[in-house]
Amino acid sequence: MDGSVGPTGSQASLREANSARVVDTVKRYGHITQVELAAATGLSPATISNIVKQLTAQGVVQTQNTVRSGRRAQMVTLARRTGLAVGVYIGRRTLRIDVSDATQDVTAGQVFPLPVDHRVDTTLDRTSLLIMELVEGLGAELPEIVGIGVALPAPIDPDTQRVSVRGIMRDWDDVDVRDVLSRRLGHRVVVDNDANMGALAEARYGALRGCHEGVYVRASYQTGAGILIDGRIHRGQRGTAGEIGHVQVDPQGAICQCGGRGCLNTVVGADALVDSLRISRGPLTLHDVISLAIEGDPGCRQVIADAGSAIGTALADLSTWTDPQRIVVGGELAQVGDVLLAPIRDAVRGRPMLASADIDVLPSILGDRAESMGALALAMDRFGQPYAGQPSSDRASSPSPTQEEK
Ligand SMILES: [Zn+2]
Repeated sequence: MDGSVGPTGSQASLREANSARVVDTVKRYGHITQVELAAATGLSPATISNIVKQLTAQGVVQTQNTVRSGRRAQMVTLARRTGLAVGVYIGRRTLRIDVSDATQDVTAGQVFPLPVDHRVDTTLDRTSLLIMELVEGLGAELPEIVGIGVALPAPIDPDTQRVSVRGIMRDWDDVDVRDVLSRRLGHRVVVDNDANMGALAEARYGALRGCHEGVYVRASYQTGAGILIDGRIHRGQRGTAGEIGHVQVDPQGAICQCGGRGCLNTVVGADALVDSLRISRGPLTLHDVISLAIEGDPGCRQVIADAGSAIGTALADLSTWTDPQRIVVGGELAQVGDVLLAPIRDAVRGRPMLASADIDVLPSILGDRAESMGALALAMDRFGQPYAGQPSSDRASSPSPTQEEK
């Protein structure tokens, strides 16, 4: 006997495992009564009661009296000491929304496919409705939201938070997304570029973690990059920093959406990829090209590998200017893995100027959640409360430099 009065090792680990099971179940259901918890976990009501008491004391969950089937019950939810932030990504064909608190213990997310050239008002209506549904699904209420971040596939002016280059996002040029959503939902909204938000998310939770000088490239319907300099997103004066899709790669090429000739996007954008397969494969969508490439279709793999070379050349130029430690590749094309990544790696490492830099080229860890998670992190940084109970209006509107984008 060692004289200890605590539980034995196996008892302690069993208690820990049961406790984790309860937390996972509460997380999954958002809000659940103690009776339902017992049924869902297979643990006895007495054990559930003890675990919930312990978790409440630890500040992990909170309980509330409620009525279920005419009987009094204890409703258990995860404690949200920081309030909830919402991250929205409005892409060309996808709407993605994530809701979470700062600890990421409370999370909900949803993806919604968007039609080609979706209408601004319909999409923003849908966004508002989905946010309300997700928050409700967590057993929370709209006032618990501290702020909403929105990622858009266009350069965003950091001051006005509006699209800063016309023509890139048709119909959205004159829309003040921040204003529309904050009026509809009654919350503060911050808008930023999708690749910037991908970079922020990967820096916080993904493949750029621990990296102060990095690049996140989003290879999708269009290509863009988010640049991390000294641990912060570098946006530039009007938010066009990192817009590698608009560097000229073919002086005789086609006219781009931005009005320039032969931009990288005219060569590696979805339309260009699909067009180059039309004769041999017929009409395909970008989604088809990616699926076929994953299945091993040589033509589709060739098209994506060539896109990788072209993107890699632009990234090698960008790396010459910014000297990153790491390049992380996300966006739909990255689903094909090394078919895209290997030529990017070759182009960057093949540049004599960069040979000694040993730049890592890695796939995104967050995948299709990168943009919405970055927007969520930005909203939490801008509007979140550092301590429980402190109203968000008490906080300066400018974010703490130690918190944002570090
Ligand atoms: Zn362009």
